[in-house]
Amino acid sequence: MRALLRKANGAGVPQVTFSMLVLLRNGSVYAPQRLGRQHLLIAGDRIAWMGTDLAALPAGLPIEEIDLNGATVVPGLVDGHAHLTGGGGEAGPHTKVPAPPLSRYTTAGVTSVVGVLGTDDTTRTTGELVTAANGLVAEGLSAWCHTGGYHLPPVTLTGSVRGDIAFVDRIIGVGEIAMADHRSSQPTVAELLRLASEAHVGGLLSGKAGILHLHVGDGARGLSQIREMLAESELPPRVFNPTHVNRRKALFEEAIALATRGCVVDITSFEVAPEEDAWSAADALERYWAAGAPLSNVTVSSDGGGCLPTFDADGRVIAMDVGHSGSLWETVRALVARGHALDAILPAFTSSVATLLRLRGKGRIAEGFDADLLVLDELGAIRDVMCRGAWHVRGGTAMRRGTFEA
Ligand SMILES: [Zn+2]
Repeated sequence: MRALLRKANGAGVPQVTFSMLVLLRNGSVYAPQRLGRQHLLIAGDRIAWMGTDLAALPAGLPIEEIDLNGATVVPGLVDGHAHLTGGGGEAGPHTKVPAPPLSRYTTAGVTSVVGVLGTDDTTRTTGELVTAANGLVAEGLSAWCHTGGYHLPPVTLTGSVRGDIAFVDRIIGVGEIAMADHRSSQPTVAELLRLASEAHVGGLLSGKAGILHLHVGDGARGLSQIREMLAESELPPRVFNPTHVNRRKALFEEAIALATRGCVVDITSFEVAPEEDAWSAADALERYWAAGAPLSNVTVSSDGGGCLPTFDADGRVIAMDVGHSGSLWETVRALVARGHALDAILPAFTSSVATLLRLRGKGRIAEGFDADLLVLDELGAIRDVMCRGAWHVRGGTAMRRGTFEA
């Protein structure tokens, strides 16, 4: 242990330091709506001012000035579904995925992330997840999490979902609760409704999102239980938030219909082979837009750090992949390459996520909002990343690393 401590200290425990004032001149800003050429004044961790006419600043003011020369500036990505502790473990204890370190998020352009436990809510705990989120916050990222995991009764920290959301700062909802999946607890509609009410009331008490984030599996039941809950209860549709809805083509049609009824549906940016009965995130978003469903009712998340297993008919894992945050920006670039405008693409990765999750100061470039920004290069790759006013990535290279990252 002593050797380990010395090694960590030798590597330098990262300190989150930043200039108090940063002036970014001549950025081509998508907020996510297109604003054109703007100057941005960052003070501490916030955007203090944005505009086109910059008054003279007092000489001698300690300010870092950067001319972006028209480079594109977009909000940092808000990833609503990632496995902060690592996910997996579905093919034995040696298949537990390790926790992704800080720069895995920042180099992918993710400045805000929401953690979930997943299948393994047995050897992994809510306390561990909250601590992982707190650790990322200490390292300069913005992070939250859901209580619970795949199963019922849900694992919690305080003994109830309502209590966790009301009392624990990082916890904003419950999930990913599994449905239509062989790994689920086979929850009934009544059980899911009780859980949704717990999340909703916890959200009311704390001013947080209070959503039921639902992992939807490959099962033929699809989203039928959500439709039943909408028909049977007084709960607002926004409480029911299904994810992985692009994993089957027919399931995605159900998701579009649900979005028109007011639910926000979440697409996962996993890789899809051409012969698979699934839509890639880029294909799914195009289909969603073409269907004319409400633009703000669709989001994209990465499932980063999670295991992406393929099962045989007996439920055994026959192949395994790990989700990564980089798939979000890959999706954005794929859509740009197909001719879509950035201001049409970005909301599903930024503002719409922050709105559903009630993450104040997140998902937009605006005065008073947190200084979470991405600067792109001429080819549309992520060049620089600022999280809460501090540079984490410059010229595509991580300037800050997690405590135990090499
Ligand atoms: Zn899942």
